[in-house]
Amino acid sequence: MLHNPMRFVHFIGNESVPSRSGESLPVIDPSSGTVFAQIARGGADDVDQAVAAARSAYAGLWGRVSAVDRGRLLRRWADAVEAHVDELAQLESQDTGKPLKQARADAVALARYFEFYAGAADKLHGTTIPYQDGYTVLTIREPHGVTGHIVPWNYPMQIFGRSVGAALAAGNACVVKPAEDACLSLLRVASLAAAVGFPAGALNIVTGLGPEAGQALAEHPGIDHISVTGSTETGKRVAIAAAGHHCPVTLELGGKSPQLVFADADLEAALPVLVNAIVQNCGQTCSAGSRVLVERSVYEPLLERLAARFSALRAGPASMDLDLGPLVNRKQQQRVWDFLSDAQAGGIEMMAQGEIVDDAPGDGFYQAPVLLRDVPSAHRLWQEEVFGPVLALQPFDDEDEALASANGTQYGLVAGVWTRDGGRQMRLARRLHCGQVFINNYGAGGGVELPFGGVKASGHGREKGFEALYAFTTLKTVAIRHG
Ligand code: NAD
Repeated sequence: MLHNPMRFVHFIGNESVPSRSGESLPVIDPSSGTVFAQIARGGADDVDQAVAAARSAYAGLWGRVSAVDRGRLLRRWADAVEAHVDELAQLESQDTGKPLKQARADAVALARYFEFYAGAADKLHGTTIPYQDGYTVLTIREPHGVTGHIVPWNYPMQIFGRSVGAALAAGNACVVKPAEDACLSLLRVASLAAAVGFPAGALNIVTGLGPEAGQALAEHPGIDHISVTGSTETGKRVAIAAAGHHCPVTLELGGKSPQLVFADADLEAALPVLVNAIVQNCGQTCSAGSRVLVERSVYEPLLERLAARFSALRAGPASMDLDLGPLVNRKQQQRVWDFLSDAQAGGIEMMAQGEIVDDAPGDGFYQAPVLLRDVPSAHRLWQEEVFGPVLALQPFDDEDEALASANGTQYGLVAGVWTRDGGRQMRLARRLHCGQVFINNYGAGGGVELPFGGVKASGHGREKGFEALYAFTTLKTVAIRHG
């Protein structure tokens, strides 16, 4: 442990603010398992202070900033993020364990979110509605007021960008509760917001634990909309707390997303995408492609080629920039180990496993990527989110069987379909029960512009793209009777 670790505090009203309690939490580097920083342990008092700062900004200066000027501020923020990509990537990489090049890509994506919502801010408007003679009816899109944002640890910068970027563009003031395992990059991004001219209180960040600061935010009557990205269980808790004060919610929760590979697919194109969809960020991605269904005639050859790729993958410290870094924390590592021992107990065959490099410190939270074959539909490896680099495979004989298995979990976030048959592409796009379907690709490089969200236990509401702006506004109808 370092003797004088760095100390990070809340960001409220454009100021650095310590916790009222004076308490802090350790920040652990997942690559080494050592403490390298401290963050403020926020509680209900700190959340109260942040909500008050946001409410006063919304009622004051920030609430009067025009849409075009909100866009200009977001554009300047995007430029500031771009100018600090290396610093932000370094912070996020040490904080979460993700390889530096992945953290860099996340910082670049953050700037792109701000750029996208900068351009959208002054294009969000209502409509007029034809009505009875003697009336003019129009709709006005208004911000909710103060929005709460609960951010997870897997993609802090990207999820902050898509959620807070859209909420600010729409004119809300924001209070953010980042994950206790990943706050550092966001605190730096907030200081850049102040530097480019966002008025005090437009953006506030309270760090701390989910059941303390997070729960206090969800329960706070001064919050007018709350969005949460995280586990299904947390989503439920937040939705229940928000219902207590009639607060609308957007829930971006877990997934067990399938990719369906048909015999007529371009397997050469599919292979690297199938691997990356589960290996990226060490499998800690809500939209990870964690199940692959393969038409029986190409099952064995595809498995062999996947196994060769999995065996060549290497995991190690974030700074080594390998295929995988460590998992985010000890709890996540234990979770993956539990799934793998259940697989073993269930007689599921491990087809291939990558390697953890010798240089990886023994106390880091490493897990080599694993390929499992013939996973039965009823097994928890097919049904539950592992949130680690574990890919489950299953053969199928026809389209209906593949579809039933793909749709047969509690989740419905993303799906991938690999086939050259145009009719099948459209049929499956319509029949897969989820929020996004990718045909002959997966994830589409992040897709800042593409609405994203789930059905069933994967949540509801949409973020990303222009659609997110509707979630961060409320619609008012004005009917004028003029004769
Ligand atoms: P989590 O859901 O507990 O944490 C996500 C965020 O919610 C964090 O900011 C956390 O502090 C906050 N939170 C937790 N409890 C809260 C509460 N009662 N009220 C308000 N906020 C609360 O996730 P975790 O425990 O870190 O990870 C557990 C599992 O969640 C993972 O294994 C994975 O399956 C899933 N997960 C999914 C995503 C995603 O993007 N869908 C992200 C992270 C974790």
